[in-house]
Amino acid sequence: MATNPNQGGKKLVRSKSGLRMVAANSAFRSPFELEEPPWVPDSECSQCMSCKAKFDFVKRKHHCRRCGKCYCDKCCQHKVALPRLCFLDPVRLCYDCAVITQKENEFYDKQLKVLLHGAAFQLSCPDDMENLSEPCLCKLSADHRFLLFENAGHAKHSPVELEQVVAIQILTAGEDSQGPSSPLSSPCSPIAPFPVISSPDNLSPTEGNIVANGLSIKHKERESGEIRHLQLIISATTDNRRQSLAFVGAVQKGVKFMYEAKESRGL
Ligand SMILES: [Zn+2]
Ligand SMILES: [Zn+2]
Repeated sequence: MATNPNQGGKKLVRSKSGLRMVAANSAFRSPFELEEPPWVPDSECSQCMSCKAKFDFVKRKHHCRRCGKCYCDKCCQHKVALPRLCFLDPVRLCYDCAVITQKENEFYDKQLKVLLHGAAFQLSCPDDMENLSEPCLCKLSADHRFLLFENAGHAKHSPVELEQVVAIQILTAGEDSQGPSSPLSSPCSPIAPFPVISSPDNLSPTEGNIVANGLSIKHKERESGEIRHLQLIISATTDNRRQSLAFVGAVQKGVKFMYEAKESRGL
């Protein structure tokens, strides 16, 4: 399969749930995207799955576009933007799905923009014989599928495919709340490895006195199947530490989204 970050166009699809703009080739879709759920068949629902009101000619059925369950108008009246399922317009959601979706949309409004904009890091490959550390701008590709490394020096690092990330750790610089004076030489202790699907929200890039100073990413090369290891360290000399910290937090949230999306596809 091609790993060119620029491949793949978009197409408009109309389902009974509404209009969606999706990747023309599903292999090129965003790793954060959820599968469109099947609708509970009309024949299987005689009453609202929330308030139990019986359906008739007056009380009509409505399906939640996110969970596919069947509700009365009152229990399924929220119209919410659902970018994670690629809907162009706000769609009808049940109460629970509306709450989850509104929370998730913060990722699309904030963290995704941070990822697409990119941030400055020192890039190194700890397993390489010649473990050089080079400044780079790390950013997410426009189709959300790759981490790109720009401005790296002579050994330009090839893009990392998010779907092939097998472990990701936030690196910390210890107890110094003022930030590390020399992050490259300070010991990098992992807080927790991914996948941690249970409670990844417990980890924040700045937890108490522990300050994140980078990311450790292990990923599989699609062709060779080889596991590669790279580190992105926030340099003490970088002009915009906050942006790099925000990027670390956004990657963490993105990886959580990716694991959820894989689950929704039954992978
Ligand atoms: Zn109801
Ligand atoms: Zn729902």
